[in-house]
Amino acid sequence: MKVYLDNAATTPMAPEVLEAMMPYFTSHFGNPSSSHAFGRKTKTAIEAARRTIAQHLHCSPSEIYFTSGGTEADNFALTSSIVDLGCTHIITSKIEHSAVIKTAQLLCEKYNVKLSLVELTPDGSVDMEHLEVLLATHGRSCVSLMHANNEIGNMISLTEVGHLCAKYNAIFHSDTVQTMGHYAIHTDEVPIHFLNASAHKFHGPKGVGFIYINKSLKVNAAMTGGGQERGLRGGTENLYGIVGLAKALDLAATHMEDHAAHVRDVKNYMIAQLETNIPGIRFNGRSKESDALYTVLNATLPEGENADMMLFLLDLDGVACSGGSACSSGAAKGSHVLEGINALQPHCASLRFSFSRYTTRVEIDFALEKIKDHCRAATAASM
Ligand code: PLP
Repeated sequence: MKVYLDNAATTPMAPEVLEAMMPYFTSHFGNPSSSHAFGRKTKTAIEAARRTIAQHLHCSPSEIYFTSGGTEADNFALTSSIVDLGCTHIITSKIEHSAVIKTAQLLCEKYNVKLSLVELTPDGSVDMEHLEVLLATHGRSCVSLMHANNEIGNMISLTEVGHLCAKYNAIFHSDTVQTMGHYAIHTDEVPIHFLNASAHKFHGPKGVGFIYINKSLKVNAAMTGGGQERGLRGGTENLYGIVGLAKALDLAATHMEDHAAHVRDVKNYMIAQLETNIPGIRFNGRSKESDALYTVLNATLPEGENADMMLFLLDLDGVACSGGSACSSGAAKGSHVLEGINALQPHCASLRFSFSRYTTRVEIDFALEKIKDHCRAATAASM
């Protein structure tokens, strides 16, 4: 049996998505910029995809720009904030995705802009009081805080952070890569300037995503070229990817409640089984709590001989998950997120399990047996 519990890294593509994409690999191949019928056909598909996305986000289609994925969109938002929107200060946190942290660091060096990291509570949540202090004591800020953390599942309230940013005339970007398609995000209810998505996180294809840019903003091209995406992102569009993205989001949004109920059930089952069968297991961040991203669970297993090897051993057993690890020398290494919340434990394996609408309890049982075996073997070896 093969069990895939790494859906925060990527999800399998839904069959309906592939079906929607197929004609664009074969008969509908025209360049969307061409004015003939072949081009008009594919241009129409791209604009229909944009409308579908806008409908789910409660925004105008003109606020959606297709990109190569989440990373490009993160780069776009941060760069525009500094270069086009006059921000002289970036506020982010040390547990953001590297697409945000590394980009923020580089921009700050390049444009001589100050970078502040908002403090986190011990469980990895944003300290809102400190965020306000940072906003109040600097010039125009760009706040980039992810909607849900991809490793520990901690979430921010887009509304709360958005209102605080509005109070200080700050630009607010939220990396919504892990929540798009899993939570309803309505831009008409949240004061937000930029958010972004990556299709492969919600059963769409890889290499395609989008950025939402609030229509109040005037930004320049992220990529100069043939003027595609209304001049902001040149380059022939990833036509089949865009068609697949819209189909994947439509499926996810239409069945969101059912999918969420299923995934929550699988996750809660795994929590209960881990607690019963692995004494001493700990859960990181807020991942076990009901207010966390429901697709992610992050656990640290008790100290044991197999800690270093746990991911590898599980992989050999056919169980795919991910995580930061602790090396046997005692020096903790691995996830910058676990490090950022002081959750790395020497000699202990930390594992991230992430679920999708296709995950079953039978698969969880299989994974649990394997985890138990390796924990038992480690305990026996250390006796
Ligand atoms: N942001 C978050 C929170 C992610 O989890 C990921 C993917 O791992 C990305 C950004 C990058 O997205 P992409 O793979 O589409 O570039």
